[in-house]
Amino acid sequence: MIGQEWKMVIRLFTLPAVMVIALGGLIFWYDGAALAADQIVEQEQAAAPVAIAKAHPIEPLLLPGEDSRFPTAYRGETKDLAVTARQVDQGFLILVNYDHLLPEDYLPEELTVVNDLAEAAKESKFSVGKARLQVNKTAAEQLLAMATYAYEKDGITGYLLQSGHRDFSYQKALYRNKVQYYKSLGYGDGDAVTAAAVWVARPFESEHHTGLAMDVSSRSHPGLQTSYYGTDNGLWLDENCWRFGFVVRYPEDKTDITKIGYEPWHLRYLGRPHSDYIYQQGWCLEEYYDFLYREGGYTFRDAEGAIWQVDYQPLGSGAIKVPAHSPYTISGDGSKGFVITTLLEPISVAH
Ligand SMILES: [Zn+2]
Repeated sequence: MIGQEWKMVIRLFTLPAVMVIALGGLIFWYDGAALAADQIVEQEQAAAPVAIAKAHPIEPLLLPGEDSRFPTAYRGETKDLAVTARQVDQGFLILVNYDHLLPEDYLPEELTVVNDLAEAAKESKFSVGKARLQVNKTAAEQLLAMATYAYEKDGITGYLLQSGHRDFSYQKALYRNKVQYYKSLGYGDGDAVTAAAVWVARPFESEHHTGLAMDVSSRSHPGLQTSYYGTDNGLWLDENCWRFGFVVRYPEDKTDITKIGYEPWHLRYLGRPHSDYIYQQGWCLEEYYDFLYREGGYTFRDAEGAIWQVDYQPLGSGAIKVPAHSPYTISGDGSKGFVITTLLEPISVAH
């Protein structure tokens, strides 16, 4: 259960959507191309590799006169907040991978049916590839805002949400099918398991369980293949999804760390400024946590001029320090502690 104070904190700090999402009447979803999303989820591809340019513009990270390292706790007035071991599995920043499994009784937070909201982005020709597809509510709102922004700012249309929340049994079936697929190609048992794990996470290892991960392709390139990166939609996502709190979770040059093949369609919602920072540094989520564990946190001015502080604190004795007056959010890391995200300055004071 989330305590009253946590709920208050979450409400206080709901990130201002870049666009107001208007809920309309009709439900709109894509019905063409025999889109059996279940069957094309996380397929590897046989097409020619695409050229990847990963040079991202790096904004200055330092505030005037400041060190980017900020290893101590929040420097303003703080208060203690009681936390429990179970709460490390709550929040937008939970790390789920081959090394950080979800507990068997894990429950995703605030799932919502995206189809019911999709009308909000209909001008962008956004669509959902299957009925009653669920993701986290905040992530859904940001996804729709992003689709609208892509259309209004850059004329990019036709994003197609293929997959979101999956329960453990569904993931089990996906994984089993993939192992069978490799066996049908003549792989031995062990090799089939190894090959399958590159493309389909094992149950409890998939961040799709959280509702914070989603597979987003496009009407013109519905298949989940790495060639998606070379399309207008794929390129735009790669360069812009951070603005809405998303990262491309399994980058091409990080497969040795993530243990997952390059998936230009698989977005993970983390919220800002985490998505900004990860994008600018060219990291994957595992590297971001390596950094937070090592440095304890950082301060950061985002593209709009807001100033953030991010602190990592271990679960320890069951209380963490949080700002007494500034707005903040808390998320567990999925294993041993919490990330506290504080908005120090909501708008730019000096450029
Ligand atoms: Zn995925």
